[in-house]
Amino acid sequence: MTKKFNPYQEVLQTMERAAQLLGLNEDDYITLKYPEREMQVSIPLTMDDGSTKVFQGYRVQHSGVRGPYKGGIRYHQAVDMNEIKALAAMMTFKCAVADIPYGGGKGGVAVDATKLSKGEMERLTRKYATLLYPIVGPHIDVPAPDLNTNPEVMAWFMDTYSILRGRLTPAVVTGKPVAVGGSLGRTESTGKGITLMAKAMSQKLNRSLKGATVAVQGAGNVGGTAALFLHREGCKVVAISDVSGGIYHEDGLDIEEVIGFLRTERGRLLKDYDTPGLKRIGNEELLTMPVDILIPAALGNQITEDIARKTQARLIVEGANGPTTYEGDLILEERGIPVVPDILANSGGVAVSYFEWQQNLQNFSWDEDKVNRRLENLMVKSFEDVWNMAQKYNSSMRMGAYMLALDRIVTASKLRGRPF
Ligand code: GLU
Repeated sequence: MTKKFNPYQEVLQTMERAAQLLGLNEDDYITLKYPEREMQVSIPLTMDDGSTKVFQGYRVQHSGVRGPYKGGIRYHQAVDMNEIKALAAMMTFKCAVADIPYGGGKGGVAVDATKLSKGEMERLTRKYATLLYPIVGPHIDVPAPDLNTNPEVMAWFMDTYSILRGRLTPAVVTGKPVAVGGSLGRTESTGKGITLMAKAMSQKLNRSLKGATVAVQGAGNVGGTAALFLHREGCKVVAISDVSGGIYHEDGLDIEEVIGFLRTERGRLLKDYDTPGLKRIGNEELLTMPVDILIPAALGNQITEDIARKTQARLIVEGANGPTTYEGDLILEERGIPVVPDILANSGGVAVSYFEWQQNLQNFSWDEDKVNRRLENLMVKSFEDVWNMAQKYNSSMRMGAYMLALDRIVTASKLRGRPF
């Protein structure tokens, strides 16, 4: 019988491996094995047809050692407590790698968001925000968008919190629309960060982005934006996919046209896009094709042992959270395939969330240039910190990132001490 995949155990295994490499005592990091708080809520929703459905919602606050809990909210049918715990823990490590003053948290609702009308999405979000009200706040826990949530959803969340609190509180969530306290550059930040990381890693490997072939799994805000930016850097994006399947063009896709097509209307899918010479491909084909750079930017648990053995990518830059399994990662390492790990590669999103939060707390707004400059500085610095750690311990970039994060968290935790 095959063991059920448990994403939280996978994160703990990765953390454990890094802790040992770093030579930590278990006492120093044992608390990180247990989220500080796990909340599960039942969300009754009146559907457009008048019927009532109840959805399960979650918020996990993994570690608050370095600051308020921080992390997105996802709406997806596969959401469960273990997944949210895993994603919350990853946020703890991600914020430590970026060296921004946050802990880690994550939330989600088990619902197929593509089947909800806009009105249903809004009512669901407002009820979920109401149920989370006692445990979130600008200095407590600050949510943000994730899979199937967007700036509009954040605006509803912020509005609901503000009504309950009796005052406008933009800093309670990040990733808001610019008109209600969002930051310029936030929407593109994750995709932009992935591009910066692909560039930084290519430089270390003495490779160039110009003419590099790229395959992207996922065409949403992360994958789609990364594909656009990489294309503008001179890469040849040959393949991209979404829930409806993948497309491939050996001469490179007209990625501006593809993304433009997808974004003109909610619910548009790649299966309806066509152009001469286009070939339809499956998930496995995309993940294993010979390309210079593979960007998994969809769901977790994609680069399994089997895929890791078969992949012909020369560099993997992880846009999604947890796209590579623990065993898959060991195989990539063994095969010498470099990986820029999720907690570094996709940290551009939370980095600009931090800038948005700062702007909100100061009632200030920065111009886009300032946001982008600070994003680049922050990510290039994290990249160098991770690279140096990996060099020092002769390890993979993933181990380098986890060691760097653990070191920062354990140091903060020791300095704060244990009062009870
Ligand atoms: N959901 C994004 C992530 O996984 C952003 C989190 C945030 O901005 O708080 O990193």
